[in-house]
Amino acid sequence: MLLTITCTHQPASDLSYLLHKHPGKVHDIEISTGVAHVFYPEVSSARCTICLLLDIDPVALVRRSSGPRGNDFALEQYVNDRPYVASSFMSAAIAKAFSTAMNGRCKDKPELVAVPMPFEVEIAAIPVRGGEAVVKELFEPLGYTIILQRHPVDPQFPEWGESRYFTLRLKNTLTVQQLLSHLYILIPVCDNDKHYWIGQHEIEKLLEKGKDWLPAHPAKEFITMRYLKHQRSLANQAMEILLQDETTGSATEDDNPEPEQKERVHDLRLQAVRDELLQANAKTVVDLGCGEGKLLRLLMAEKQFEQVLGMDVSYRSLEIAKDKLKLDKLPTAQRKRIELIQGSLTYRDKRIEGFDAAALVEVIEHLDEPQLAALEKIIFKYAKPVDVVITTPNAEYNTKFDGLPAGEMRHADHRFEWTRAEFQQWGNRIAEQYNYSVVYKPVGEEDPGVGALTQMAVFTTKQMIIGMNRFLSYGK
Ligand code: SAH
Repeated sequence: MLLTITCTHQPASDLSYLLHKHPGKVHDIEISTGVAHVFYPEVSSARCTICLLLDIDPVALVRRSSGPRGNDFALEQYVNDRPYVASSFMSAAIAKAFSTAMNGRCKDKPELVAVPMPFEVEIAAIPVRGGEAVVKELFEPLGYTIILQRHPVDPQFPEWGESRYFTLRLKNTLTVQQLLSHLYILIPVCDNDKHYWIGQHEIEKLLEKGKDWLPAHPAKEFITMRYLKHQRSLANQAMEILLQDETTGSATEDDNPEPEQKERVHDLRLQAVRDELLQANAKTVVDLGCGEGKLLRLLMAEKQFEQVLGMDVSYRSLEIAKDKLKLDKLPTAQRKRIELIQGSLTYRDKRIEGFDAAALVEVIEHLDEPQLAALEKIIFKYAKPVDVVITTPNAEYNTKFDGLPAGEMRHADHRFEWTRAEFQQWGNRIAEQYNYSVVYKPVGEEDPGVGALTQMAVFTTKQMIIGMNRFLSYGK
């Protein structure tokens, strides 16, 4: 298995300093499944090429595997593509051979570490599940130009068709550390075969190597899932850390009033939202940012709601919700009414489309401005429920909290708290833009000067067709 990296930075021979490999020698690096040979076929000031030739020992591979590989055929553990293709073993070899460069260090020329350089990479054979589209989805957002050559199953028998093996050429201008971290993570993601070493520490590797680019990558969910080999719980934990900025940092809302009052206030809020949803005649409801599932519990107690879906970005909150709602113990008919999913309100998600109503209880204030702009589209443009109920703190009421200094917010993770005028300005603009009507209601006791603790907006679509359909199906 051959990986070739060519650099045309001037002088190109700087690459040998960056990779800490003397250009005059062949370096043999042992990895647990074989040997990586590192050598330079070309070194000049204009162009420098380094090769990593990975020689996998198939016997060592079988010995290392804890059980038989797959059940496709009896000899699969001896006869397979692993010695010949780029896979997680290539990542292991890159990490071992170029560890100093991957850690962003260069002893002799430290100033080179941060310099973006023009690179060309060739991976002689890489299996790609999903083909060209997947390669593009992975590498293009990182700025790579891609040249892919797909190989037939057997050139002697063209009728056998194409294989899933490609020669992949990539071009980009970036630092060597960036390049190596991209290859380290994305090679096994392309391959998507079983690795032998998936475990908790893989999350750490993924997060550590991907920390500078993965959180902003549009395919981060796909990358995480594949890298962690579809082990949902590991992938979810990793996603939660990647999305840290979007989460609250605490699983529960923590408003400022005294604790027991806080619970009571929150219950009132949830009841007000439930009542709105009942009144709207919604039969299917999605609770966006459902947290520990307090609203879901209220909804499940009402027969009107035939289907409820809770979505939250926080996996931990969802696990608490699952426990509190006793999902494992519900009778089948009840269990079918409810579902919990992990997802972020900042990405379009088909799973939240097609509901009669959506609720967002104390969620919007946890999002930054660009995220809020995304959320607005995702809900009102794409998911388009008939009714949307949103609650958020009323900032004017904060003056009534003794312990809260003027100008401070009720919760450390709140990105904003709006006055009634601000909330209404936002809501009116949305209603106008997406063809909804909106009414605003106070939740809790209303103070004549500053209003109520919580403010609520109830949006209803003006699209007659949806309204008619619901009218026609109502009472069936
Ligand atoms: N609605 C719940 C929880 C409110 S706390 C209740 O009233 O009890 C805010 C919730 O929003 C948290 O559970 C947090 O994880 C979730 N959240 C924050 N950003 C999110 C995002 N981008 N996508 C989905 N949920 C998000």
